[in-house]
Amino acid sequence: MEALHPKDIVFFRELLTQQLNELLSMAERTVNTLVQSGEWAAADPLDQAVMENERNYTLRIRDRESHLIKKITAALAKIEDGSFGICESCGDEIALARLKARPVTSYCIRCKTQMEAFEKVAGF
Ligand SMILES: [Zn+2]
Repeated sequence: MEALHPKDIVFFRELLTQQLNELLSMAERTVNTLVQSGEWAAADPLDQAVMENERNYTLRIRDRESHLIKKITAALAKIEDGSFGICESCGDEIALARLKARPVTSYCIRCKTQMEAFEKVAGF
């Protein structure tokens, strides 16, 4: 398997930076939504229930966003220290096609498949 070409590194750095910026501006909007719904908390109980649902939904999205932000930040750190594209489990290079489909991945397809099989058996 061939190592990542410097131009691939540039490609992934740009892609990940762009994704990170998008997520950060999205996260900012989510915070604004939360602040706004807080202002309406004095409404009647039914409205409050609806807002509570919306709030939970927003928080769930935020969870996912911050999870992804962490992953992207970690991937960018790997680009900087030169370990990007290396499987964290077995140390092999991750296939370029896999990285293009999922740049934040930390594992090669073989390790990932094994983990997923294990998770299924373990009942996760
Ligand atoms: Zn691996």
